Amino acid sequence: MRNLLGGDNFVTSRVDAAVGWARKFSLFQYPFVTACCGMEYMAVSGPQYDLDRFGAALPRFSPRQADVLFVVGTISQKIAPIMRRVYDQMCEPKWVVAFGVCTCTGGFYDNYSTVQGIDTIVPVDVYIPGCPPRPETVLQGIMLLQEKIQKQKQEY
Ligand code: SF4
Repeated sequence: MRNLLGGDNFVTSRVDAAVGWARKFSLFQYPFVTACCGMEYMAVSGPQYDLDRFGAALPRFSPRQADVLFVVGTISQKIAPIMRRVYDQMCEPKWVVAFGVCTCTGGFYDNYSTVQGIDTIVPVDVYIPGCPPRPETVLQGIMLLQEKIQKQKQEY
């Protein structure tokens, strides 16, 4: 489509902005939940925090229907290839959120069996720190992801 409209110009930049706006408010997340952070993930999904206003309320349990991989909890070396496979099965454009300090860095599981940060396995777009993260931190992470999606060059 970009070629049909003659490369980067006023029209394509307006279309880019519209596509970015639509994408950032239709986030279908795949929750890859492995540990205690999952309880906080479920709490954030409740009505009190209203993820619907970010267009991010509906989880999809098929990677082919999801565009945001939420990695929630400790990732062991044994489960890491499965997480990578889920990521590979998602269509472009796709994003990854590391939820909780275990996912971001391995946390206090500094041992041979734990992945020391999922960015060694998949590219991460947003890191949400905390053990577990507070709901407000999660909401801020989602807003940062939306900002990133809006600003990025849109492929269509
Ligand atoms: S960050 Fe804390 S709450 Fe989350 S999985 Fe690790 S130990 Fe559990």
